[in-house]
Amino acid sequence: MTAPAHRRAVVTGGAGFLGSYLCERLLERGTEVICMDNFLTGSPDNVAHLLGRPAFRIVECDLTEFVHVSGDVDLVLHFASAASPVDYLRHPIETLKVGSLGTLHALGLAKEKGARFVLASTSEVYGDPLEHPQREDYWGNVNPVGPRSVYDEAKRFAESLTTAYRNSREADTAIVRIFNTYGPRMRPHDGRAIPTFIRQALSGEPITVAGDGGQTRSICYVTDTVEGILALADSDFTGPVNIGNPAELSMLELARTIRDLTGSSSPIEFVERPADDPAVRRPDTSLAAERLGWRPRVDVVDGLRRTIAWFHDKLREPAPLARR
Ligand code: NAD
Repeated sequence: MTAPAHRRAVVTGGAGFLGSYLCERLLERGTEVICMDNFLTGSPDNVAHLLGRPAFRIVECDLTEFVHVSGDVDLVLHFASAASPVDYLRHPIETLKVGSLGTLHALGLAKEKGARFVLASTSEVYGDPLEHPQREDYWGNVNPVGPRSVYDEAKRFAESLTTAYRNSREADTAIVRIFNTYGPRMRPHDGRAIPTFIRQALSGEPITVAGDGGQTRSICYVTDTVEGILALADSDFTGPVNIGNPAELSMLELARTIRDLTGSSSPIEFVERPADDPAVRRPDTSLAAERLGWRPRVDVVDGLRRTIAWFHDKLREPAPLARR
């Protein structure tokens, strides 16, 4: 077996949706993984299948506090942060703190260990974009005092901090701007469109589409996103680089597709659109293709089918005891 690209990695937010797949994939590649999480929006259940593996360790900690890891580390993937609008609006200060203090501590850890650092940034740094599709050199259109700013500005600050560590502290950093990603392990009530539509369709409730449903998103299946992130980790490219699926669809098309795939007869109901909800969103992924040789592979219908199958089983399980 060839040596793994990285020997020992820290994944912050490793018990979350994306973080859990990153832990899993790194272990498959032969990397030892330390998963750090405070379980604010994630859960140990997401990595329960990895517990007991000698190369996997989970550490409950808040990244906004001092962070210490003993021994060598050669990769830090900084994924800790609430990510769904419902979560970050419920935890606005925590979101700003993890984007600022949490990023500072994760960068400090990477610098101390001489590890490569990858920041999970987001398409939300483009705000309600005035350029379409969004290329990495577009600076974005964000309302700094709007409700979404707690997330968008935290990530913009985190990008700035990461860049400053690279330029003034010689840290080996990279920034990935992740576009909407979906798949099994999303929480049915996390408020994002795909879990909401699937949950509503499977239970026969009305599917609630915001506004007239004409606003668009580009959705990427989780295994594709994870391969893109790891391709960046393995490279010496600094980014920022977009990782997402350029196949764009309107929210109404998404709702109808999910209704068809679930065989549901749920009606579609139009509800008020949230403030500052972006009208369009589509990544230009030419940079990822050119610098990382990455492109998404899973087509939307296939990815949605896999996700629906998982939700179908999940929603039939008895409700877990309430967590905070
Ligand atoms: P998630 O909420 O499932 O995971 C985030 C994890 O971070 C959770 O396990 C949470 O408990 C943990 N966390 C939050 N604050 C923490 C703190 N102070 N200390 C330690 N752990 C903390 O969200 P996700 O969808 O997996 O997103 C992961 C990362 O990817 C986030 O940084 C998010 O901004 C970014 N991202 C995700 C998407 C997407 O579509 N899922 C898109 C763009 C960017």
